[in-house]
Amino acid sequence: MILFRNVKIMELEPPAVSEPTDVAVFEHEEGDRGGTVAAIGQKLQTQYPKAKVAGEGGYLSAGLVCGHTHLYSALARGMLVDIAPSKDFAQMLNHLWWRLDRAIDPAILRASALAGCSDALKAGVTSLVDHHAGPECIDGSLSVIRDAYEAVGVRGILCYETTDRNGMDGARAGVAENVRFAKEIDELRASGEKPLTEAAIGAHASFTVSDETLGALAEAVHTTGRGLHIHLAEDKFDAVDARHRFGKDPVERIEAAGALNDHSIIGHGLWLSPSEVELMNARGAFLAHNARSNMNNAVGYNNLLPTFANVVLGTDGMGADMLEEFKFAAFRHRESQGPWWPGDFLKVLYRGNALIGRYFDRDYAPGYPGFGTVKVGAPADLVLWDYDPPTPLTGDNIAGHFAFGMSSRSVRTVMVAGALRILDRRPLYDDSGIQTEAREQASRLWKRMEER
Ligand SMILES: [Zn+2]
Repeated sequence: MILFRNVKIMELEPPAVSEPTDVAVFEHEEGDRGGTVAAIGQKLQTQYPKAKVAGEGGYLSAGLVCGHTHLYSALARGMLVDIAPSKDFAQMLNHLWWRLDRAIDPAILRASALAGCSDALKAGVTSLVDHHAGPECIDGSLSVIRDAYEAVGVRGILCYETTDRNGMDGARAGVAENVRFAKEIDELRASGEKPLTEAAIGAHASFTVSDETLGALAEAVHTTGRGLHIHLAEDKFDAVDARHRFGKDPVERIEAAGALNDHSIIGHGLWLSPSEVELMNARGAFLAHNARSNMNNAVGYNNLLPTFANVVLGTDGMGADMLEEFKFAAFRHRESQGPWWPGDFLKVLYRGNALIGRYFDRDYAPGYPGFGTVKVGAPADLVLWDYDPPTPLTGDNIAGHFAFGMSSRSVRTVMVAGALRILDRRPLYDDSGIQTEAREQASRLWKRMEER
C-alpha cells in the first residue's frame, strides 16, 4: 500500500479541487486490485499502518495523456544535419523525416523510446499514444518500444505507420508488424498479465496508402479488434490527393474500407470537410489535435475543431509536455478567433483518458470509475503537483491556472499502474543512463542521416 497524505485532489472533468485528504493506492503487485486507488479519506495511516508514504501536501491528479506522438523523433532535438530548405510540407517529409526514419536501427529505436518515455513522466504524462516508423527495421520494432515503456513504466498504445512509399513489400511488412504486436499483447493478457502497452493498427497517411494496403489494414482492424491510427489531411495535399486518385474524401476512404470505428485515432484532420467530421462523430472516432506541430509545419489550422465530438491533444513528436501543448492549443485557437476557451481545452486534455480507456478498460472490473479520475477503483496513474498558487485554485478556474500559470515544473511525484516512477522529482529508473545513451545514439542517427 502506498499513501499520499493531506493532498487536495484535482479533477479535470468535471473540474473540482477537494479539501485536503489522504489517498491510499494498491501497489502494482497487490493482487487483482493492484494498481488502483484503494481508499480516500482522513487519517488513512491508522487504517494502513504499514503503508509507504509517497508524499504529503500539494495537489494530486490523474496522470496526463498524450494522444498522438512519434517517439522516433526524440533524438531529432537540435539536429545537426545538412537539411535542404523545404518550400512545403511534402518537401519537409522528404528532406527531413523520411531520411530520419530510414536511418533508425534497433539501438537508435530503443534509445529514442526510452528518452521519450522519460520525458513524458517528468512532465506528469503517464500515457503516450505512439505512431512509429522505421522502414529499415520494421519486424519486431513495436516490441522494442514496448520494452522501453515497461522499463521506464509508462502506459501507451503502439502501432507501426504502414506506408507504400518504400514499396509493397514494405507495406505488407508494416501491416504484419501491427498484427504480430496485437497478438503479442493478446497472448500476454491470456497468460494473466496486464501489459502497460496496447496495440493499434498504424498507417502513415492517406496519400501513402493504396486501396490494396488500406484493405489489408481494414482486415487487421477486424481480426485484432483494434482501431486504425493514421494521419489524415494534415496538409491540404492529402485531402486533394484522396479526391483526385481515389474519388473520395480521406475519411470516406477509411469508412469505405470498413476501417473507421470507435477505436480509430485520426491525426490532425485540418482539411477535412464537415461531412467527414459527421462521419467520424457517428463512428465515435478520435481526432488527435497537435497545435504546436501544425504551427511549426505551417500546414494551417483546424477551424472545424469545435465540431469534432472526440478531440484529444497530441504533441506529434515535439516532446510530451501536455501542459505546454494545452497552452499552445488554447492560444492558437484564440488567435483563430474560434469559439472555444481554456475550459473547453481542459475537456479536450481530459478526453485523452477516454482514448486510453477504450484500449485498457478490459483490465478493470466492469463499472470501474475509468481513467483520468482519482476515485476508489480507478487506475492509479497519478501525479502529485507542487503548486503554491498566488491566486485561489478551485474547480472553476483550473483551466485558467493551466493556461496562465501551472507547468510541468510543478511535477513532484509520478505513479503509473500503482508503481512509483518519479519520487520527489527523482526518477526511480536510470535516467542519466538513458540520457547518456540517447546522446550517443543521436550522434549515430545524425551521421546515418547524412548517408541517406
Ligand atoms: Zn503525427
